[in-house]
Amino acid sequence: MLILMEPACPAEHVRAVLELLEASGIRAQLQDSGESVSLIAPHASKVFKADRLETLKGVRRVVPITSPFKLASLDAAAGRTVVEVRGVRIGGGELVLVAGPCGVESREQLFTTARYVAEAGVKLLRAGAFKPRTSPYSFQGLGEEGLRLLDEARREFDLGIVTEATEVETFDAVEACADLVQLGARNMQNFALLKRAGRSGKPVLLKRGPGATLEEWLYAAEYILGEGNRNVILCERGIRTWSAHARNTLDISVVPAAQGLTHLPVMVDPSHATGRRDLVIPCARAGVAAGADGILVETHCQPEKALSDGPQALLPSDFIRLVDECRRVHAALQVQHAGAGLAF
Ligand code: PEP
Ligand code: MN
Repeated sequence: MLILMEPACPAEHVRAVLELLEASGIRAQLQDSGESVSLIAPHASKVFKADRLETLKGVRRVVPITSPFKLASLDAAAGRTVVEVRGVRIGGGELVLVAGPCGVESREQLFTTARYVAEAGVKLLRAGAFKPRTSPYSFQGLGEEGLRLLDEARREFDLGIVTEATEVETFDAVEACADLVQLGARNMQNFALLKRAGRSGKPVLLKRGPGATLEEWLYAAEYILGEGNRNVILCERGIRTWSAHARNTLDISVVPAAQGLTHLPVMVDPSHATGRRDLVIPCARAGVAAGADGILVETHCQPEKALSDGPQALLPSDFIRLVDECRRVHAALQVQHAGAGLAF
């Protein structure tokens, strides 16, 4: 159930509702958007009828959650979730760009790339220190040394850091460094890792598994939300199909489909979705046009020397073009939105 409280309802009324639920063994999470306060209690309907809770002081309305996604579904929140990452608001209508090399390879590589990413006005730098690789013989990332370099890059260029946690054992170290913790496609159903991320105070970017349906992806988000972390961003990064011309197939329709089911922000990663530099910009534009809340893209100062994902990394000049074109597509949609009163 979603229990919506009256505007400016006193804290003791909220506490009284929480205590009543807890006394019946019902776990509830407090959601405070700044404008409204609500309680989300997925199992409350097993014990209480909505009209009983509506008699409590301060309760405005009780909405049953019929969706199987008790925490991620649209009816589980009073509005769309905006996830704040080092001052950048994701899901609030702005187009957010996240960019950087696939992995941290050296100080020089990271800093050279971070410099032009920051100069393009992008506020979030993404690079893996722990790399999940298909082959155990491929570059696995610099590990803790990579995290140290990311920390330095944050200070040097005033950028938020997005980096991947690949296992529970190293989660603490990644969490300490990251402003946004990425959970990769291969780990979308690593339930221990999802739950650990759910206990983190840091926001989480959850990539869609290469073979996962939208439902499976949302259930994965439920694992994180269920532990109390409300700051989850979904990221479509291509799925495996019969199509052989690209690394994966970008599932554009999942963007509006997900937004129709969940209050969580949805981003698009055109780099892993295609694996080909020449396809990245068109697919990024498509992601923005489909209504994605942000684009996550790989770029490298010298892609031919990259230790991972070089063929999909944008050259610095291509990256500048991507930023410009994505912003223009986003701005065109805003104008159309405002002018024609259309709801995208
Ligand atoms: C990455 O972001 O570098 C990565 C490994 O992505 P994915 O988990 O989508 O394959
Ligand atoms: Mn990569």
